[in-house]
Amino acid sequence: MTSSKKRDITTFIMQTLTIYNSLTTQKEKFKPLKDGYVGMYVCGPTVYSNVHLGNVRTFMSFDMIYRYFLHLGYKVRYVRNITDAGHLTDDASEDKISTKARLEQLEPMEIVQKYTVDFHQILEKFNFLPPSIEPTATGHILEQIKAIQTIIANGLAYEVNGSVYFDVLKYNETENYGVLSKRNIEDAIENTRVLDGQSDKKNPQDFALWKKAEPEHIQRWESPWGVGFPGWHLECTVMSTKYLGEEFDIHGGGMDLKFPHHECEIAQAQACNHVSPVRYWMHGNMLTLNGKKMAKSTGNNILPGEIFTGNNKNLSKSFSASVVRFFMMQAHYRSVLDFSNDAILAAEKGFQRLMDAIKLLDNLSPSNNSTVAIEKWKDRCYEAMNDDFNTPILIAHLFEGVKWINLIHSQKETISKEDLELLKSTINAFVFDVLGLEKESAAGNNSDKLDGVVELLISLRNQARENKDWALSDKIRDELLALGIQLKDGKEGTKYSIN
Ligand code: AMP
Ligand code: ZN
Repeated sequence: MTSSKKRDITTFIMQTLTIYNSLTTQKEKFKPLKDGYVGMYVCGPTVYSNVHLGNVRTFMSFDMIYRYFLHLGYKVRYVRNITDAGHLTDDASEDKISTKARLEQLEPMEIVQKYTVDFHQILEKFNFLPPSIEPTATGHILEQIKAIQTIIANGLAYEVNGSVYFDVLKYNETENYGVLSKRNIEDAIENTRVLDGQSDKKNPQDFALWKKAEPEHIQRWESPWGVGFPGWHLECTVMSTKYLGEEFDIHGGGMDLKFPHHECEIAQAQACNHVSPVRYWMHGNMLTLNGKKMAKSTGNNILPGEIFTGNNKNLSKSFSASVVRFFMMQAHYRSVLDFSNDAILAAEKGFQRLMDAIKLLDNLSPSNNSTVAIEKWKDRCYEAMNDDFNTPILIAHLFEGVKWINLIHSQKETISKEDLELLKSTINAFVFDVLGLEKESAAGNNSDKLDGVVELLISLRNQARENKDWALSDKIRDELLALGIQLKDGKEGTKYSIN
């Protein structure tokens, strides 16, 4: 293929990408502000505890989206922040990081460091690409103070007793507070009154841009309004527009951030710059466990570390990072995904089937002609991704490829040299570059080998028990335990976990 023909095809693929925009509640053709460039901001974690699999899901959805843009040849500036100050507890009485620092008797920055390191280590295990910029709230206090001054000067914020609040009713006279969440202002009042512990606000739905620090509050900065700390919503407005411009292409986050966080971001940016900041708002849906949202606060969650060891009451065994990635990619990012042991076991089987076929790819011999239509299949893969990043449909197409690989391998279908190259490059591009699955696991990862070895020992132990050879059965159990592998006898047989 000539390089200009290839360029035309890539341009065509770029131009047919559609994205579901939460702002318009419609799928729209993606047209970046500047041809060939994408600016994308995603709300990062609040680093006061370990990330759970639900958090990982949202970040993974945007990792896949970032990867697909890169694959299409876009130059992407991907900004994902670290919230290390200002995120208040649900009763709005205190900052989450300060609270944790007091509980653990550590400096707030020790808490931040501990959980930022954890976050990075976990994401690396799941093969995430690092963002282009990872700014922190505490690194942008001056910019936040300046933004507050602008909003006050524009008449949309007021100071009371050392705190500054955004005047939602005033803003709503000319703009639409609710444009993203589709809530009307009365709903907003209903929802904020319960959480409102502040009597100094003009209206309960007003939100803090700057909060006065009480004496026990340990994260504190000087400001024109006295010593305090910035509100959580403000950091994202300031950091996104600083690095991506007053108007930029994509802003993402979990569905639960739509209101109030993203609604407030729009209001603040409008109040500062008189322009709606984001062209495409994207929201990933929740990962649930036992039908309920995985959350830090309720304890209804699984930590990535527990997945890798199998040490969680919801798990029968350990699973590799690529199996978890495959499990997540089998659902569309806008659908709720329920985690269960059965579902991840099924994902493991599917993942293995995909990897087994990929192993065969290198040994397939081409024929003079093809009985399989690879070019059209490749187009279908792009169509799936161009339809709002539809990874489950993409994976269904990849399994059509798997079926062909197996048929060609058993000589029931044939493939030409050119088509074989196309099949290989397409599979590699989608499986490894776009979905971010890892080859290392393709070779049969160590967790599979460990599974096999432990299963073998479990069956030898069962035989020993049948023969009433208690000495041997105990020896197997105890020596595995000494190696950190605990056998658990239950109704459905013996399972194991790694301590
Ligand atoms: P947080 O650290 O609580 O600010 O959350 C970080 C990101 O994880 C946000 O984008 C949340 O929307 C997202 N998130 C939290 N819980 C879940 C969940 N159960 N499923 C998917 N995403 C979640
Ligand atoms: Zn944010």
